[in-house]
Amino acid sequence: MTEPTITQLQAMPDDWQRALAVVAHPDDLEYGCSAAIAAWTDAGREVAYVLATRGEAGIDTLEPEKCAPLREREQRAGAARVGVTTVEFLDHKDGVIEYGTALRRDIAAAIRRHRPELVITLNHRDTWGGVAWNTPDHVAVGRATLDAAGDAGNRWIFPELIEQGLQPWNGVRWVAVAGSSTPTHAVEATTGLERAVHSLLEHRTYIEVLTDEDPETYVRGFLTENARTTGARFGGKPAVAFELFGR
Ligand SMILES: [Zn+2]
Repeated sequence: MTEPTITQLQAMPDDWQRALAVVAHPDDLEYGCSAAIAAWTDAGREVAYVLATRGEAGIDTLEPEKCAPLREREQRAGAARVGVTTVEFLDHKDGVIEYGTALRRDIAAAIRRHRPELVITLNHRDTWGGVAWNTPDHVAVGRATLDAAGDAGNRWIFPELIEQGLQPWNGVRWVAVAGSSTPTHAVEATTGLERAVHSLLEHRTYIEVLTDEDPETYVRGFLTENARTTGARFGGKPAVAFELFGR
């Protein structure tokens, strides 16, 4: 028997200056890829976050009106840990985000405002690696983000955005999907991993409800194991994987 060949992941492109990450909920980026974001902001790149919701339906014991401001605070703190100070919320409804032109327009508007070369999102497919069912919010926002990268550049799609002063931006060169079960690229997580741990730990209220484990032990274990598994396909260095779609 021969050993199966491990397909190595390629290094993510680094000839860019601005990235925009668009996800459904507070904590999606912290679970998904914040070690990579830490490495990028360290290198002087600008990264901004746009969240479709405030994650207000995420905690069973907390009513949405009380949950939303708390999770917004935790998200801003988590972003700051990896050098991100711009965090915006589109105020779609947590749990029932609808894929459609309203969502595409809001994301296209964000892309026109921020003019990124790289757009980042989270797994848009039905499942996590065929094992666990994905949430409809992740699917909707991931797909709409991949679509909006094109919409942002076309002046005839959403002409109302031009009336609002948002000129087309056709400069998105890639959309990188974190949490994909078919990744193609990776970023070394050695220097960013510690800050990624603290970034996810900022979502303390959410994590304390999620697990009985000590929050730091849980978070460190989860992110370290993910980085190690990805690293097996990236020269043995801990890494964060992305599926990269060029444009
Ligand atoms: Zn989520």
